[in-house]
Amino acid sequence: MRITIVGTGYVGLVTGTCFAESGMIVTCVDVDNKKIEKLNSGEVPIFEPGLEQLIERNVKKERLFFTTSLKDCIDDSEAIFIAVGTPPDEDGSADLKYVLSVAGEIGRYLNHYTVVVTKSTVPIGTAKKVKAAVQIELEKRKVNVVFDIASNPEFLKEGNAIEDFLKPDRIVLGIESEEAEKTMQKLYKPFLLNGHPLLFMDIPSAELTKYAANAMLATKISFMNEIANLCDVVGADVNMVRKGIGSDPRIGNKFLYPGVGYGGSCFPKDVKALIKTAKDFQKPLEILTAVENVNMRQKEVLIKKIKSHFKNDIKGKSFGIWGLSFKPQTDDMRDAPSLVIIDHLLSEGCNVSVYDPVAIEECKRRLGSKVKYAKDQYEAIIDVDALILVTEWSEFRIPNFNVMEKLMKNKLVFDGRNIFDPVEMGEFGFTYYSIGRKTVNV
Ligand code: NAD
Repeated sequence: MRITIVGTGYVGLVTGTCFAESGMIVTCVDVDNKKIEKLNSGEVPIFEPGLEQLIERNVKKERLFFTTSLKDCIDDSEAIFIAVGTPPDEDGSADLKYVLSVAGEIGRYLNHYTVVVTKSTVPIGTAKKVKAAVQIELEKRKVNVVFDIASNPEFLKEGNAIEDFLKPDRIVLGIESEEAEKTMQKLYKPFLLNGHPLLFMDIPSAELTKYAANAMLATKISFMNEIANLCDVVGADVNMVRKGIGSDPRIGNKFLYPGVGYGGSCFPKDVKALIKTAKDFQKPLEILTAVENVNMRQKEVLIKKIKSHFKNDIKGKSFGIWGLSFKPQTDDMRDAPSLVIIDHLLSEGCNVSVYDPVAIEECKRRLGSKVKYAKDQYEAIIDVDALILVTEWSEFRIPNFNVMEKLMKNKLVFDGRNIFDPVEMGEFGFTYYSIGRKTVNV
């Protein structure tokens, strides 16, 4: 089976590679020349655990190809996946210009039956727009080519994307024809051997499922962040509360960790887009609007603690930041809380040095020389007034506190992910702030 994936980013590249791994012949297309050149010379443009080895193996086996020309690979594709970006427009809605431009291009070259599948996260009604955009181009060419559309939202998590794709919790497929159902069934068969469900549904339900899933996860985060902030003022410990509620199976113990707010390429934009869709249909989503507001405030929660500690006088102070990516195991810094924290510190005249195991290059691209880049976590805290922990990479979990003590100007830590033990921090003599837990040695 031959397929084409258009858009070779975090989703497209993982999707294409995993389909190739299951034996299909896959061509990944992107308009970004540099990205395709890199991939064709064996370099992987993003950090995703396990991806490099999988790409290498499938390229060698001649099952995985990279090109900038959709025209050249469209001919024998049984399915064409659109996996390009859908960034937020000014009003919060998903910008469909990349998706629809790909649809138009498909229409310009399509000569045989295929299924055009939207894998990008897109609002309800997009598959119909994709169909119309393909059709318009076919009509311009005065050709009658039968094709189907399908919606196949992606649920992979950056940092665990390969595992998520190869062993999915579920595969959601919006279809409107038996032929498309058969093609998609054939395509996903290798991933269903362990009993993972393939959920066929109508296209609008599939499109909404993706937004509803991300909105629910974002809601859990904002809810726990509010509870943590309440813990801070009433003297409760959010870790205890989390365990106490998480043991109820109706609530579940996953995704109940408070922190410095959600970021990344999906939750912020998808929450915004769903709010906008609901508004357009005169069905405002009040809970989700609150989720977004709480999240924006939460990105400032450490700044508030820092300013309160220094009695609002932080000008000229130095801070070391551990962790830049929006979560561990990725170099993705889109909407990362670290950016909000760094921006704020810089705007108040602070000096900032940063360290991240994989996101330094991405940070350089975004912030240039505004901050100092450290080679390791300890270099980032030399002579600093405080350490700010933003992303909970494993390597930060058990640092050498004796070394830290010697390097830092003050033994002061602001932990945005609750990864250290307050009792231990107290014993080492650190003043330790975290989220929703008792502050130590103030
Ligand atoms: P990305 O920005 O990493 O990649 C998008 C790619 O599409 C880029 O390489 C870009 O050059 C390419 N592109 C743009 N226009 C093109 C065109 N006309 N032809 C060919 N290529 C084109 O984006 P991503 O993170 O992979 O996300 C893609 C979609 O998947 C988005 O809708 C996103 O919401 C959704 N999604 C993302 C994740 C995630 O964790 N990143 C998870 C699930 C769903």
